[in-house]
Amino acid sequence: MADAAILRPEPVFTPDSAFFWEGAARGELLIKQCGACLRYWHPPRPMCPACNATRMVPARMSGFGTVYSWAMPIHPFPHGFSAPPIVVLVDLDEGPRIVSNLVGVDPRNVQNGLRVHVEFEPAQGGRSVPVFRPLGAAP
Ligand SMILES: [Zn+2]
Repeated sequence: MADAAILRPEPVFTPDSAFFWEGAARGELLIKQCGACLRYWHPPRPMCPACNATRMVPARMSGFGTVYSWAMPIHPFPHGFSAPPIVVLVDLDEGPRIVSNLVGVDPRNVQNGLRVHVEFEPAQGGRSVPVFRPLGAAP
């Protein structure tokens, strides 16, 4: 039976992003790592932007990061949310920057430089989506 409280839209799978969402389903934050020059790249794409290699390995991130910037899209109201989400750019400790949502914090208390950790929220169809929560914030 579907949980009526879950409104978050399902992630869109592509051949390049399937590994990311499959990792999220297991509670793992995976980022593409170049099999040649070992750099990380995100969002996923078929070729390393640094050396043009097409061989990649999914690398598991620690999930720790720092808020680089954030915004709250209030108008138009985003589809699939019961309240305006906090959209955040997180610099992962390993280096890649990722777009996500920030949870467990009053928007008045969000600031750049906030330390966060990943967790996973369910979407409408049962898949999981990575979101970030400030360190020390209650679940
Ligand atoms: Zn490369």
